[in-house]
Amino acid sequence: TYRKVDPPDVTELGRSSWTFLHAMTAKYPEKPNLNQQGEMKDFLNIFSKVYPCHWCAMDFAKYIENHSPKVESRDELGQWMCEAHNHVNAKLGKPKFDCNFWKQRWKDGWE
Ligand code: FAD
Repeated sequence: TYRKVDPPDVTELGRSSWTFLHAMTAKYPEKPNLNQQGEMKDFLNIFSKVYPCHWCAMDFAKYIENHSPKVESRDELGQWMCEAHNHVNAKLGKPKFDCNFWKQRWKDGWE
């Protein structure tokens, strides 16, 4: 039997999605080949079109257009994702996250 849970609202969807996006970045190859780089670009483009919050998706697509995803290495993608998340944080009046710490938060754990 399943526990009854409500459908996700924009907040819950967002928190889960950032977890997914940063975790994906943490597992991205340190030195991706051209195929992997292309797949990540394609993924982010499609993600920005199918994200199930219409105005979030529109804004993220515009961000990607103006700030092309940096897919040449894990470190660059991690920085890029952190900056993209900070863009949304700023829009929502949330504090900026210090991107020097993205690896501790999403990959290695806090020192
Ligand atoms: P979240 O912003 O969900 O962050 C989760 C955790 O990530 C934080 O607790 C922190 O530990 C860590 N974190 C915070 N900032 C960073 C960073 N820069 N880099 C790395 N880690 C970080 N909501 C709207 O209301 N309107 C929108 O237009 C909108 N657009 C969105 C677009 C996208 C692509 C996504 C994924 C989400 C969007 N959201 C939007 C949801 C919003 O960003 C938050 O997820 C939601 O408000 C819940 O916020 P939160 O305070 O729980 O933390």
